[in-house]
Amino acid sequence: WNGLLALNDGSLLVNPELLYIKGVQTMSLKLENKIALITGAGSGIGEAIARRFAQEGALVYVTDLDSASASRVAGEIIAEGGRAEAARQDVTDEKAWGTQLGEIIASQGALDVLVNNAGIAIPASVEDATLEDWRTTQAVNGESVFMGTRGAIAVMRERGGSIINISSIEGIVGEAMTAAYNYSKGGVRIFTKSAALACTRKGYPIRVNSVHPGFILTPLVQGALAGMPEGEAEEFVTRVTSAIPMGSMGEPLDIANGCLFLACDDSRYMTGSELVIDGGYTCH
Ligand code: NAD
Repeated sequence: WNGLLALNDGSLLVNPELLYIKGVQTMSLKLENKIALITGAGSGIGEAIARRFAQEGALVYVTDLDSASASRVAGEIIAEGGRAEAARQDVTDEKAWGTQLGEIIASQGALDVLVNNAGIAIPASVEDATLEDWRTTQAVNGESVFMGTRGAIAVMRERGGSIINISSIEGIVGEAMTAAYNYSKGGVRIFTKSAALACTRKGYPIRVNSVHPGFILTPLVQGALAGMPEGEAEEFVTRVTSAIPMGSMGEPLDIANGCLFLACDDSRYMTGSELVIDGGYTCH
């Protein structure tokens, strides 16, 4: 059925998929009635994902290690007419995962989308990295993705859902100054495929995909640049910007739009895939 149906009483039935009728746009929200949890959503890319999902009708759980920033983002979403809840969640804490997922199931009855977004970058080459910084990076960027994915599968396996793991282009190509980060993001990339296969093998209607942002100007990148030895940050920015075929760094919204696609049914035939959003950086 591809249009309008005139009824005997003179009224019209409109196919909801028909978006434009005589210039009038009928709304079709992509995440209507969906419950989404986004970690590290108090800043940067996670914040943009939370805002975008809320615009598309989702109730978003905005969690972050920094509870003040989570509250700020949730408050702004609500002020703009969206639905949001804020909570402090340290993604490296196994117990906190149980608490957060338990709270969502107790109050909403379901979780439809999880975005494992929280992450850190401590710049250092293989020669300069300390074991302590290495382990911290793997805990925040890697172990958290395992615990979140495992926990989300447990609550999604009957009703289904979409799990989105934020990796990086640094999970695909190497960079001398990001040894521990490369290791963590490469792990997220291939772990996502393992989890996707585990779900399909069991017949769970759960899709698990990874997203690979290129260089996006957020506090994470600004902090990593500030941590580089003098002169190296400038050289790094010039080098990466000139290596981006599209000519500039991306914006958090560019990543949020990709996550929206993976979260909703438009991507229903995708699992274990890697969505690269990088202005062409990894083409060469
Ligand atoms: P950001 O620093 O702006 O935001 C990260 C958020 O994670 C912060 O709010 C921080 O408080 C939170 N966080 C840190 N440790 C946490 C913990 N233990 N538990 C819970 N929350 C914690 O960074 P961003 O650039 O928005 O990065 C978001 C994700 O995107 C990260 O996984 C990052 O690796 C990835 N990424 C970023 C870029 C980029 O260029 N910005 C590129 C590729 C991938």
